[in-house]
Amino acid sequence: MSTHTGNFLTVDVEEWFHVCGVDHLAHGRWQALPSRVELTTDIVLDLLARHRITATFFVLGWIAERYPQLVGRIASGGHEIGSHGWSHRRVYELDEPSFEQEITRTNAALEAAGAPTPVGFRAPEWSINDRSMWALAALVRHGFTYDSSMAPLRMLGNPEYPQQPHRRDTPDGSLFEFPPLVRRRFGQHVPLGGGWGLRMTRPARVVKEIERRNGQGEPVTLFLHPWELDPQPPRVALPWPLRFSHYYRLDGYATRLDEILASVQFGSIGAWVASGGWA
Ligand SMILES: [Zn+2]
Repeated sequence: MSTHTGNFLTVDVEEWFHVCGVDHLAHGRWQALPSRVELTTDIVLDLLARHRITATFFVLGWIAERYPQLVGRIASGGHEIGSHGWSHRRVYELDEPSFEQEITRTNAALEAAGAPTPVGFRAPEWSINDRSMWALAALVRHGFTYDSSMAPLRMLGNPEYPQQPHRRDTPDGSLFEFPPLVRRRFGQHVPLGGGWGLRMTRPARVVKEIERRNGQGEPVTLFLHPWELDPQPPRVALPWPLRFSHYYRLDGYATRLDEILASVQFGSIGAWVASGGWA
């Protein structure tokens, strides 16, 4: 792990109603809900253009099929397009054949929208963990060179997982894994790289932690959702703790992000892997 030129900004392109494990937001109901994904992804694209940042956008297949023009806008902004799976179901709730179908269907939708075949994958809700490790080999078989779906967090993954980008070997070959930024607080790992953890932390503090990691030669991975930047987010009843992870401190987030994006160097994961980040 030598030459790193920056950190990784990633965006999961999905609707505000793509929340895992909530019955009244299940797959069959999506068509009836108001779409906000084009408007909010354009806000992210504008934000990144202003900061001249190239990012990785993990696009949900369901979105790519319905909004191919949005995939086109992301690509023409110079960003990398990765896969966020098809149905936004957690990987450990799928069996291997359904997971592979999700990958194939999403790749086809992205390609139909004019994007190159993706080499990066992000699972919904960081759901590649001890219950779904088989998914990494499936990704290798489908040509993915990296994954960013394993959180070193008790709630989602396993606090023992490495906190830095690392290589994972599978029976079918190896790939690189990019964990989200976490930090230690109250004796355990808490999220810092995105979601409520990033939204609730003062920008100066986030920047300081990123600089500390960079000082040790470690790039960090941050993640955003377009719905977090919705100026008028549709509200829906969610059970705790989803209500918290979804709605906590959305207001003022764009401003706080602006401060972080102005102070830190970011790029796409794919560009770094392709240029031999570990060489
Ligand atoms: Zn997602």
